[in-house]
Amino acid sequence: MSHLLIVEDDDLLRDGLCAQLTHAGHSVSSASDGAQAQTMLESTRFDGVVLDLGLPVVDGVSVLRWIRQRLTALPVLVLTARDGVEDRVQGLNAGADDYLTKPFNMAELLARLQAMLRRSRLPAFGGSMEVEGASAQRLRVDPTLPLAWLDDEALDLTQREWALLSLLVNNQGQVVGREDVLAVWQTQPTDGTASGSNALEVYVHRLRRKLQDSGLTIRNVRGLGYMLEVELA
Ligand code: CA
Repeated sequence: MSHLLIVEDDDLLRDGLCAQLTHAGHSVSSASDGAQAQTMLESTRFDGVVLDLGLPVVDGVSVLRWIRQRLTALPVLVLTARDGVEDRVQGLNAGADDYLTKPFNMAELLARLQAMLRRSRLPAFGGSMEVEGASAQRLRVDPTLPLAWLDDEALDLTQREWALLSLLVNNQGQVVGREDVLAVWQTQPTDGTASGSNALEVYVHRLRRKLQDSGLTIRNVRGLGYMLEVELA
């Protein structure tokens, strides 16, 4: 479940979007103008935004620029008017992750939104991710290549093990859902092993062994997924 912000001044469309996205299992908040959206974004953490560009008080492009200055990684799907080619270009230039032209099909919006949220859970590009274990060993994961190191020793990882480890390190202290791991695996070349929920447990087991002396452990959070934790000394 993601927490989404819908910013749309058309009451009918906003209510429709809220109802559909709630029905799709998301937690939804809404704003009817740009200033209200900014206030909400300042006080609440959202996983994604659906942003109409034609908004009163503060227009959508300004809100988008404002978001990009403060919340660089927040995924934003922009809604533009039918003939607003210029809007669209402006929106993408201002940092929209995707856009839809009105009138749009609700199923398409849901599909695009899911894809956008999934992409945003992938590790960010550039710079390695690090976590320090209880034994003060440092685990580093390359965000783009299937490489990881414990202190300076390279870990022998398959593509899928690396993807799983990246997600866990990138979401330290948070539960990574099984479906999130499976979704990421789908975007990757197969390494010749089975995928699916059973395979996930096999991979977690293998990763635990490879992290054995690191002071880090992967906890199974029953019914939810997995979480990377620093072992208690
Ligand atoms: Ca509008």
